[in-house]
Amino acid sequence: MSRVINFSAGPATLPLPVLERVKSELLDFEGTGMSLMEHSHRGAAYSAVHAEAKSLLTELLNIPDTHEVLFMQGGASGQFALVPMNFLHQGQSADYVITGTWSEKALIEARIQGDAREAANAKNDGAFTRVPTNEELELDPKAAFVHFTSNNTVAGTQFHSFPEVGDRPLVCDMSSDLLWRPIDVSKFDLIYAGAQKNLGPAGVTIVIIRKDLMATGREDIAKIFRYSVIAGKDSLYNTGPTFPIYVVRNVLSWVKDQGGAAAMEARNRQKSEMLYGLIDAKSSFYRSPIEKASRSVMNVVFRLPTEELEKSFISSCADAGMVGVKGHRSVGGIRISMYNAMEPSNIEKLADFMTDFCAQNS
Ligand SMILES: *Cc1c(COP(=O)(O)O)cnc(C)c1O
Repeated sequence: MSRVINFSAGPATLPLPVLERVKSELLDFEGTGMSLMEHSHRGAAYSAVHAEAKSLLTELLNIPDTHEVLFMQGGASGQFALVPMNFLHQGQSADYVITGTWSEKALIEARIQGDAREAANAKNDGAFTRVPTNEELELDPKAAFVHFTSNNTVAGTQFHSFPEVGDRPLVCDMSSDLLWRPIDVSKFDLIYAGAQKNLGPAGVTIVIIRKDLMATGREDIAKIFRYSVIAGKDSLYNTGPTFPIYVVRNVLSWVKDQGGAAAMEARNRQKSEMLYGLIDAKSSFYRSPIEKASRSVMNVVFRLPTEELEKSFISSCADAGMVGVKGHRSVGGIRISMYNAMEPSNIEKLADFMTDFCAQNS
């Protein structure tokens, strides 16, 4: 077996022990004589997995009783639509903090449902190279909610402290950084994350929602789109994505074995300091376009002196067994994604490779 080092932004690399567990349980799940994929979503075998996934997430993020954990489908993009469908009532307006591609898309969906405004827009000269400070937010005192993206997967920026929005409901797309560190969930009214970046495979979306907010959701929309209906059936209103939820359960159990969210934070900071440290030390060759205070710990975006060198960097990486390093087509350059599952030893290998590449090409 030879596995490459996969720096893809998502779907992204998974911890090897998680994949090995999936492999060992694939044909005969816990002595039941069938795969988990073949089990009823209402049967005992799957129910235990479902409950454990939920309780592990609750434990790892210290989610208070005021909030409910949901497993949904439709990805983060589905949530872009569902949040305003449920919580943007007639005559109301919602505030969006625009920090990249994903928040722009979320705003477009909100405007299909009703009124939505930009509370800030971090685009400067056509690029997103920082996130706004609290002082820069122009919040509508009556906003139905404030929506922001904690980590901008494409641009490579991240909020290191969260917007302060008073008593307006705070909604956050944490698709690419949920569980990278401990957070105070009580500060949020709704958090959502597609699993395929930091939490598991594609196919399930994790939602953490304040019960008070959920109770105010519109009831004149299809039942399948109402958070209250999904919560009322413990995310088993219809057949859910049982296998992706099972893999998420395995990832959460791995995170717990590693020491939980605080251990993830230490490990992620170590990796990002290693990589940004190298980029800054060789700044005549590697250049981070992102303002220091806004740099993402998850997605490190950088440029080389020319596009030719970037192409050669990407192909030399592939020769060295490192894939998924090409920047998003909208920003170009290089992007190294290093979510929880990325081993620090792989960042060391990359750093050695980058040191050599710089020496040979500058
Ligand atoms: C990947 C990503 C999305 C889109 O996720 P889908 O599950 O493909 O809809 C949205 N927001 C952020 C921050 C992302 O990284």
